[in-house]
Amino acid sequence: MSHSNCHGCSLCLLSCPMWQQRRDVQYSPQGIFKALQHNATHDEIAPALFSCLLCGACDVLCPEQIDITDMIKTLRQEAFVKGIEIELQKNIESLLAQPVAETRLEENTIILPGKALRSMPDTLTKIQRLLSNETHAVIATDDGDDIALALEAGIHISEQRRHSFLEPLQGAKRLYISNAHLLRALHRWLPATELCALGYSLSQLNELTSKLNKGDLYLIEAQSFHFDHKQKITHYDQLRYQQGCQTNMDLQRNAIPTAAGALNTLRPALDSTEQGNWILSGRNVQRIVVECAEDGLAMSQVTHHPVLHIADLMGA
Ligand code: SF4
Ligand code: SF4
Repeated sequence: MSHSNCHGCSLCLLSCPMWQQRRDVQYSPQGIFKALQHNATHDEIAPALFSCLLCGACDVLCPEQIDITDMIKTLRQEAFVKGIEIELQKNIESLLAQPVAETRLEENTIILPGKALRSMPDTLTKIQRLLSNETHAVIATDDGDDIALALEAGIHISEQRRHSFLEPLQGAKRLYISNAHLLRALHRWLPATELCALGYSLSQLNELTSKLNKGDLYLIEAQSFHFDHKQKITHYDQLRYQQGCQTNMDLQRNAIPTAAGALNTLRPALDSTEQGNWILSGRNVQRIVVECAEDGLAMSQVTHHPVLHIADLMGA
């Protein structure tokens, strides 16, 4: 399916943070695809292309089953090739780590926590304990933050950098990955390895979720939820029914994202306060529990209620 299949039904607008914030159809998949159908240039659609959070909410709503997020990533790549957003490209390329000779880790289970969780050593230790039931889980030295950002932005990753990132992971049987873009790419790069979304895996541990209650707002990590919507929706519905907590699902059964993605943090296009207020709108909550550390940082900016990572429910 390509942008030419878009028939302009507007369903993708309903959950789209770009449209919610701008109220301008140009800032939506429909606006981007209709513009392309009328021969718009990459330059003309660039503001919308680079405002997209790649949250994936539109993917699950589109009746034409257009893979919208993949298409937006491709259009970003094409825009860079045409010399559009050259400063952003240079910025991200400068953040791509220099390849270093890495040795293969011996452990069966490796956790790739991402930058925000790394700055929470106590939480990270709890995660390590929680996921070490069968085998000892280790934290990857190189968890590919730079690669995740490049994937999100549509920046080329050199073969050497990709190799130096993957080499330590080659011996693992199971990886827990915090970043949804990295998780998706690893499905292609390491097809024989068991790959698990970190937040989703923690949300399956009864010793954590049994601590949730009706005063809690449980924040599902939007990107990995939408990438695997059909499988995950039942799990989160059960969590909500069993514990009585609220979630950030909207009426279309999509998870409203924060604007905490790496690209929007590097160069803000959407207002994170507005996203946080949308999530909180109409809800009476006493506590916010997040799967994703970046979401926790974003929500702390818009509420006086406690915000904690799901792993911190351990022993709470
Ligand atoms: S991925 Fe999210 S922000 Fe981007 S167009 Fe789709 S719904 Fe909008
Ligand atoms: S939901 Fe799909 S078909 Fe409908 S307007 Fe959006 S992109 Fe086009």
